[in-house]
Amino acid sequence: MDPISRAYSLAHRSLVRAGPHLKHLYQVHAHMVVTGQHRSTTLLTKLLTLSCMAGCTSAYAHQLFVSVPCKDAFLYTTVIRAMAKSNLPEDALHSYSLMLGSGLAPSSFTLTASIKACADLAMLFVGRAVHSHAVTRGFRSDRFVQAALVAMYGKCGDLITARQVFDEMPEKSVIAWNAMIAGYEQNGLAAEAVVIYDNMEQARVEPDPATMVSVLSACSQLGALDLGERLHDLILKKGIAISLTLGTALIDMYARCGRVHKARAVFDKMQQKNVVAWTAMIAGYGMHGFGLEAVQVFSEMRISETRPNDVTFIAVLSACAHAGLVSHGLDAFKCMQKDYYLKPRAEHQVCMVDMLGRAGHLEEAVQFINTDIQGEVPAAVWTAMLGACKMHNKLELGEEVAEHLLQAEPNNSGHYVLLSNLYAAAGRTDKVEIVRSMMKSRGLKKQPGYSLIEIGNQAHLFCMGDRIHPETMEIHAEMEVLMWKLREVGYIPETDSVLHELEEEEREVAVMFHSEKLAVVYGLMKTSHEKPIRILKNLRMCSDCHTAMKFVSVISEREITIRDKHRFHHFKQGLCSCRDYW
Ligand code: ZN
Ligand code: ZN
Repeated sequence: MDPISRAYSLAHRSLVRAGPHLKHLYQVHAHMVVTGQHRSTTLLTKLLTLSCMAGCTSAYAHQLFVSVPCKDAFLYTTVIRAMAKSNLPEDALHSYSLMLGSGLAPSSFTLTASIKACADLAMLFVGRAVHSHAVTRGFRSDRFVQAALVAMYGKCGDLITARQVFDEMPEKSVIAWNAMIAGYEQNGLAAEAVVIYDNMEQARVEPDPATMVSVLSACSQLGALDLGERLHDLILKKGIAISLTLGTALIDMYARCGRVHKARAVFDKMQQKNVVAWTAMIAGYGMHGFGLEAVQVFSEMRISETRPNDVTFIAVLSACAHAGLVSHGLDAFKCMQKDYYLKPRAEHQVCMVDMLGRAGHLEEAVQFINTDIQGEVPAAVWTAMLGACKMHNKLELGEEVAEHLLQAEPNNSGHYVLLSNLYAAAGRTDKVEIVRSMMKSRGLKKQPGYSLIEIGNQAHLFCMGDRIHPETMEIHAEMEVLMWKLREVGYIPETDSVLHELEEEEREVAVMFHSEKLAVVYGLMKTSHEKPIRILKNLRMCSDCHTAMKFVSVISEREITIRDKHRFHHFKQGLCSCRDYW
């Protein structure tokens, strides 16, 4: 073997031995320079690919790339793929444009990797350009390119085009199905995600763990417990290993669907737990008002030496806020700064003010705002403070807070509603009128509330006072009967929580037709006696609905679970799990 060939094969062997380890790769590179092998296209391609896999910097990847003398399509493609896979999406796209500039033709692999890079950067504009390259170069029907396009459009939020490409695919791989499901789920269209999953089942395509994670997240959003449980059974039946991601998705699904004990069972069975899993469990307890359990899991987490992050602390603090555990919350807030050097963000400040305010420590809350928050006070902090003023009937302080809030966000209708409710609770109908006309002059409308109830496999949506549901007549008739029965056992409708825009008598009617009441009546009509009723509501429940549900749980002898914007309420035998602390 001549010396050049020997040097080449030596360098090649060292590269293989080094594998994707940067320190070793730097050494091999230095050796290549010394032995004159640093201009070999094949060796440099290999070195570059391994360096990307090893997580090299963008600068090093670029330097290596420039040093390759004759770049061919194979080199470009290998490098673009390695860069796209290794979290260097900008470099991947840069190399892709160099490739096109040098007149080389991209392959299906090049296009797929470049589209993935666009997805990671959420660059829809560039993604569209790559899409048109694919079409003009005859890759329109390439299933790898198509699947990558579905994922890219989904991640960029263009679901219409994602769906178009998806529908055009004659044969859909599991990757394409997953991309379409994830696209809908990540953009908050959970119901559509579930429909695609149903189609996938009908097409008899085997779901993989990635499918399960996306569909479980969709179930969490929808509160679709039945489907979530079915997926869990399927995972167990198929013997799919419960990885960290899958386990966390299950914990989140059970917690958000109102089955926190099942979430705990999954959590306990997980062999390995990372910060995301621990945080999901803490948040799960928190949203059900199990503050002490949340604090307990948090201390177990610290003992296990898993380092909490700032999201963990949001979960802990909000759990304390929902359960009135002020001293635990104060400890956690100190711990995050002292033990973990985490700087409190707006979310943590909101939790603190919420916690102090709810517990009636309004002065401490004001003091916290004045001393602990540097710079501008986030609007969400003022919202929490105003909520506390409403809760404890502090009109003067509330007015002061509202001034800050309306200055910060003058076009958020929710703030006006909150202020108006504060006045209404204090009996200041004159001021309610003023707030109402302020809203009107700004052209603001109350965010419409809705409630969802799942019966069989179908979700039924109710809006306040709507008459769209095909069984409206029957539902309204049932409602009359129910209201009569409720009054018999002592329920008195409250009306101050409705924005005072209706005459007294009509107002009572409006409260009666709040969406969650319609949903509960429908649930009572359509489900068997032993089954609990589960409802999902997009806004915070009003106090009248909260009281009414307690009475309903008594006279119907049913368990009712309502997940509102902030937390879960489990109504049973006239009591709510939140102990009226919400
Ligand atoms: Zn209500
Ligand atoms: Zn409650």
